[in-house]
Amino acid sequence: MSSLAFLALMNRLFLLLLIIGLFFWWLKPPVHSITLDASARPPVLSNLPANGMLEITIPDAGMDYYDVSGSTVAEIRDNLNRSHRSGGFDGYTGWNVSWNWPGYGSADCNLAAASLDTRISVRLPRWQPPQNADRALVLKWNNYLGNLAFHEQGHVQLARQGFAKMQQILHDSTCDEADAKLNVVLGEMRQADLRYDAETNHGSTQGAKFP
Ligand SMILES: [Zn+2]
Repeated sequence: MSSLAFLALMNRLFLLLLIIGLFFWWLKPPVHSITLDASARPPVLSNLPANGMLEITIPDAGMDYYDVSGSTVAEIRDNLNRSHRSGGFDGYTGWNVSWNWPGYGSADCNLAAASLDTRISVRLPRWQPPQNADRALVLKWNNYLGNLAFHEQGHVQLARQGFAKMQQILHDSTCDEADAKLNVVLGEMRQADLRYDAETNHGSTQGAKFP
């Protein structure tokens, strides 16, 4: 084969692959992206189309999605369980906070230049419904995921309240007391998460239960 003929063949092959790729891209079910608002109710998701993947974003949190497959309740439950990390929950909210300021640990520090580094991350499942998925199953999942995200949003709000308290402490305190006061709030934040999970049975009472 001459190099010109070879090039022409490669060109055609490339075009063919491009067309196949575009076709599969076009076939791909849509992603329904929902961002929760700060309302006191879970989102209403019953009007979403029954195809496509539901992805929920919680404001002020970094999102970490994990994919689950399955075409029945039992298969999905099984895959959720397989994806659990330590703790064994379908959703998880983690937060981190650290603080520092010039002259930390000394009596003549500069709290006005203090830095409070905060981070909140939420882990949520993402189910890709199979083609021709049972509509009732899709509705069931969407409802569940909405409630689960709503539960995690509760943790996010608790964390944000704690961080705001810490900012206030940095504003109001003396060098001698700031660190101890911040540690008290840190302990309160951990307690608040435990209390919230005890009150809601980790979201069960909010409908975050599948099936
Ligand atoms: Zn929880």
